[in-house]
Amino acid sequence: MKAVQYLRTGQPVEVREVPTPEPGPGQVLLKVTAAGLCHSDIAVMAMTDEQRGFDLPLTLGHEGAGVVHKLGAGVTDVAEGDSVIVYGPWGCGLCRQCAEGRENYCLNAAARGIRPPGLGAPGALAEYMIVDDVRHLVPIGDLDPVATVPLTDAGLTPYHAIGMSLPKLRPGSTTVVIGAGGLGHVGIQLLRALTATRIIALDLNDDKLKLAEEVGAHDTMVSDDQAAAKIRDLTNGVGADVVLDFVGAQATVTLAGAAAAVNSDITIVGIAGGALPVGFGSLPFECRVASPYWGTRGELLDLVEMAKLGTVSVEVERYGIDDAPTAYARLHDGQVRGRAVVVP
Ligand code: NAD
Ligand code: ZN
Repeated sequence: MKAVQYLRTGQPVEVREVPTPEPGPGQVLLKVTAAGLCHSDIAVMAMTDEQRGFDLPLTLGHEGAGVVHKLGAGVTDVAEGDSVIVYGPWGCGLCRQCAEGRENYCLNAAARGIRPPGLGAPGALAEYMIVDDVRHLVPIGDLDPVATVPLTDAGLTPYHAIGMSLPKLRPGSTTVVIGAGGLGHVGIQLLRALTATRIIALDLNDDKLKLAEEVGAHDTMVSDDQAAAKIRDLTNGVGADVVLDFVGAQATVTLAGAAAAVNSDITIVGIAGGALPVGFGSLPFECRVASPYWGTRGELLDLVEMAKLGTVSVEVERYGIDDAPTAYARLHDGQVRGRAVVVP
């Protein structure tokens, strides 16, 4: 089968012929119907071997959708032909965090070498993929897999981040969204669907700001060193009750700190390496800063229900598997509108 593989540290991905896997006991083989490209893949490809923490070559793709193709021994509860999406942050299923539904924070995954598909285990950017357990599949019925697959990360991660701050998102509140890319443009829609907050979206170029406006931002502005002051002006000096930073660079986390209100939440979702000093006097009183990872399977079920009602709709650029390297290059250069999705 064809697979999009990251072969050597720092080198571009390649489309290669690899053996089609066979599902072992308890596993499920999917025929992939769609695989989303995430900026985290770009971040992984900028890491050294030690930072990355898993071996190459690796088939990328941590947003996966497929049709159940073959069941490993002992698998029940799904049938060949079922259309599913893949819950990516795989854990042990048994520890305290997993027991409380937060498999994304599994306490045993690292020690046991349990890695998400596309981030250590072979991923979705291939004609077929192995899913380790039926619990990591979510049925999507008749939903279009191409439009639905980004919900597994570009939807799930902002949904989880917004969920942490819902009590602060009352009418009259302000939320700043930094970065209107794959995650950000879904995050804006989720804020509109779940809350009455006023949304100010920031990005670097007009196309992204236009997309932010189209999907529901009330105000948009260029993300520069004037932005924090402009946000204060727009909020009568109060600042933002919630800042969702979908970039996480030094410039954006600094901006987040400068734009935040008293008793606000700053949630750093982007992984571009920025750090925000926290301590008495360095941020407004009772400002909480968090850096969450992905989301829970229950939250993914919520998103599928929202997709069925048409509450969220992801903007996608479609690519064939041979064009995955081009899609990654566009993502790297900030040219993708919404999410790039490969249809093998
Ligand atoms: P993306 O490339 O689709 O979108 C990023 C957007 O940010 C682009 O529109 C880009 O123009 C904009 N941008 C870049 N620099 C900016 C700046 N200084 N100010 C304002 N906007 C700027 O990326 P994505 O796939 O949506 O991912 C966003 C970030 O979230 C990445 O860092 C990714 O690695 C991270 N991520 C984190 C998690 C998690 O669990 N914490 C999960 C998925 C992705
Ligand atoms: Zn991701």
